[in-house]
Amino acid sequence: MALGEFDLIAKFFKRPVRRAALGVGDDCALLNVAPGMQLAVSSDMLVEGRHFLSTVAPARLGHKALAVNLSDLAACGARPLAFTLALSLPKSDPVFLEGLASGLFALADEHGIELIGGDTTAGPLNLCITVFGEVPAGRALLRSGARAGDDVWVSHPLGGGLGDARLALEVFRGHVSLGGWEFETVRHAMEQPRPRVALGQALHGLAHSAIDLSDGLLGDLGHVLRASGVGARVDADALPRSPVLAAQPRALQLECGLSGGDDYELLFSAPPARRAAVLAAAQAVGVGVSRIGELQAEPGLRLVDGYGAPLQGDFASFDHFLSA
Ligand code: ADP
Ligand code: MG
Repeated sequence: MALGEFDLIAKFFKRPVRRAALGVGDDCALLNVAPGMQLAVSSDMLVEGRHFLSTVAPARLGHKALAVNLSDLAACGARPLAFTLALSLPKSDPVFLEGLASGLFALADEHGIELIGGDTTAGPLNLCITVFGEVPAGRALLRSGARAGDDVWVSHPLGGGLGDARLALEVFRGHVSLGGWEFETVRHAMEQPRPRVALGQALHGLAHSAIDLSDGLLGDLGHVLRASGVGARVDADALPRSPVLAAQPRALQLECGLSGGDDYELLFSAPPARRAAVLAAAQAVGVGVSRIGELQAEPGLRLVDGYGAPLQGDFASFDHFLSA
């Protein structure tokens, strides 16, 4: 028998809260904010057919919906506290909801955060999560903090790189053919991103600026450059690439690595004097980081190859209203 709205919430989404003062069940949830801290807040919506394929396993969808939100907190160097979930569902399907909740809460538990409220309605499948985190007042890492002379860094899985999620999308679109473990590797990157929450917090006092990579490196770097009033030189050959992506033609490697979305890695800038400290911080949290370029006073983005020669090509970033 199908569950009604309130039974559905009680069965799948209501869990006792420990950190929040009040969780699911009243008109508002209540969060205590520690003195000297600021609340960092971010929302991301996932729409079927737009952000995920209808074939994705519900547990992976639950994971990803929370992961992309945690990635925004990571980019600000915030510590996650709690989240809300606004859910639009075509039907109350217990098998789907069970899977969704399991993926969602597995990642939530990993980060010690709790679901404190939300909204549930019938409609096309759509998930919107809002995350709340805390950051020492005035210390959040911002897009606007970058300075000329900074190194440009990106995070990546140890032994992996950027662009695998985009490569998976190309396989789903039928543009690239990959099988076996190679397909599973890139599909995993697309469906199960690991938000770099620990790295974001470890970058306090090291990085001048940070952003998470959701719409493609070049576009996201462009946001930092505009917000900070600086330019950059990026060595495309320094982009970290997984063995699976590195086995593809060079043009596809660059397209996936430079323009592909859905990486959910951090791009950050830090002064060269802190190189060793950045590497040590990344090592301490078990995440790879690579230096891909430097920030310059002259505005604009200069893309070069490993020999320093300008790179030709049109690498667009993803924009929901401009992209096909
Ligand atoms: P209201 O009508 O006052 O906005 P609702 O009846 O929509 O409240 O929701 C009842 C309670 O269930 C609220 O505490 C709300 O935050 C919570 N809630 C609703 N949907 C979800 C969900 N998908 N996940 C977690 N909590 C939810
Ligand atoms: Mg109400």
